[in-house]
Amino acid sequence: MASPTRRRPGDATRIPAVLDGLARLYPEADCELTFKGDPFQLLCAVILSAQCTDVRVNLVTPELFRRWPDAHALAGASQTEVERVIHSTGFFRNKAKSLLGMARMLTERHGGLVPREMDILLELPGVARKTANVVLGTGYGIASGVVVDTHVARLSARLGLSSQTDPKKIELDLIDRVPREQWIAFAHRLIWHGRRVCAARKPDCTACPLPCPSRLAPHAPD
Ligand code: SF4
Repeated sequence: MASPTRRRPGDATRIPAVLDGLARLYPEADCELTFKGDPFQLLCAVILSAQCTDVRVNLVTPELFRRWPDAHALAGASQTEVERVIHSTGFFRNKAKSLLGMARMLTERHGGLVPREMDILLELPGVARKTANVVLGTGYGIASGVVVDTHVARLSARLGLSSQTDPKKIELDLIDRVPREQWIAFAHRLIWHGRRVCAARKPDCTACPLPCPSRLAPHAPD
């Protein structure tokens, strides 16, 4: 893997200030996908969230989980039935294929349980590193890495935490700069800030107290 982005003058104080600022803004930040029980439902929801909002996923999953609450149940579903239920999340054919393949592999190889190891999770259909990090962090409380989604990637660049564009390389930079005990909460906080303040097209810099090298307007004091 590539070496992390080179540190810049001032990072030693600015990066901790970014982490502290995020913690003050969003002390309760958590995953916004709704799920119950063991991480199986969370894994389904994260697969559905590709190219789709969490709000939309949360509208669809109650019916999905009512009909197929666990891996054993979903493994016996038909592709057509699952496609019908998840249709509104987009890319529904591929997502249904991933859900069914994932549920069948869990049933055949893991007793219907979601593994706790990154390498084994990555063998499941539809599961890449971002999904595995969400499941391990939010589902099991295991800090195996840092979730890098579109918000984390965008804000990492704006906040000067990484100059990389490849998610795996961004994650390496974040792993290098964020203390491990903060990895899980940090990603939730960055995602919340991206959704609430630092939007892709129109970041609300006047409402943002973070020490940010990309700031477009001064922070308006409360
Ligand atoms: S100052 Fe602006 S660009 Fe920087 S993190 Fe805050 S909202 Fe985003």
